[in-house]
Amino acid sequence: MPDTSRPLAARNAIVTGSTSGIGLGIARALADAGANVLLNGFGDPQQIAALAAEIADQAKVRVAHCPADMTKPAEIAGMVPFAEQTLGGAVDILVNNAGIQYVAPIEEFPIEKWDAILAINLSAVFHGTRAVLPGMKARKWGRIVNIASAHGLVASPFKSAYVAAKHGVVGLTRTTALEVAEFGVTANAICPGYVWTPLVEKQIDEQAKAHGIDRERVIREVVLAPQAAKRFTTVEELGALAVLLCGPAGQSFNGAALPVDNGWTAR
Ligand code: NAD
Repeated sequence: MPDTSRPLAARNAIVTGSTSGIGLGIARALADAGANVLLNGFGDPQQIAALAAEIADQAKVRVAHCPADMTKPAEIAGMVPFAEQTLGGAVDILVNNAGIQYVAPIEEFPIEKWDAILAINLSAVFHGTRAVLPGMKARKWGRIVNIASAHGLVASPFKSAYVAAKHGVVGLTRTTALEVAEFGVTANAICPGYVWTPLVEKQIDEQAKAHGIDRERVIREVVLAPQAAKRFTTVEELGALAVLLCGPAGQSFNGAALPVDNGWTAR
C-alpha cells in the first residue's frame, strides 16, 4: 500500500528561491510529503546549511543547497546535474519560484531593475524548464510548478516589470503544458495574492514612497485593497497546493493559472 501521507516519496525536487518566504514554505511541504529537495537562493551559507539539515532531519529526506544565480542561464542549467548528484536521482519536480520586485512609475523605473526582474522572474523559468524537460519527457513523468502571481492575471500601477514578467510566466506555463502533456508532464502556475514574506515587507516602503502615503495606509489601501478578503495568504497554504499539484490528485491540472488571491481576480 502506498503511504498516502507521503505522496511524493522518493521524488526529487528543485525549488528555486527557497532560502526564504514562499519557496521555503513549498520546500518544507514537498519534503514533508516525502520528496528529496534541492534548495536554491541567497543567504548566509552557515544558516542555509543549518536550514537544510533541519528540514532533512524533520522530514527524513535528503536536502541540499545549490547557490545558482537565477540571472545566469548556465548556473540555472547546472542545477539539474547538481540535484541528480546530491539528491541521488533524476529531477522529477521543478518549482520555479525565485523572484524579486521593484516598485516605481515607468518613467522612473531603473533600466537595470527592469532587466533583473525579467531575468529572475521570467527568463529563469524558461532556462530551468528547458533544462529539466528532456529528462522528464524521457521518463514520462514530471511536474513543473511556476510561482506566478495575481499580477500574472491583472495589473497594478508602478509594477511594470513585475506584471510583465508574471504575465509572461503564465503564458510560458500554458505553452509548456501544451508541449509536454502527452509525455506525462504537467506545468501549472500558482497565482498568489499577497503573502507576508520579506519580498512584500520590503515593497511596503517603496509603495509608500510611490503613492506618497504611510505604511499602514499602504497595507490597508494599496496592498490588501484589491482582495475581497483582507488577509495575507500563508506559505503553508501555498505549500499544500504545490504538494497537491505534484501528487496523484494533481494529474489532470495542466496549463492552469490558479488564483490563490482571496478573491482579488474574481472582480
Ligand atoms: P522572498 O524575497 O521571501 O524570497 C525570494 C527568494 O528568491 C529568496 O530565497 C532569494 O534568495 C531568492 N532569489 C532572489 N534573487 C535570486 C537570484 N538571482 N538567484 C537565486 N535566487 C534568488 O520572496 P517571496 O515573497 O517568497 O516570493 C517568492 C515568489 O513568489 C516570487 O516569484 C514572487 O514574485 C512570488 N509571489 C510573491 C507574493 C507575495 O505576496 N509575497 C505574491 C505573489 C507572488
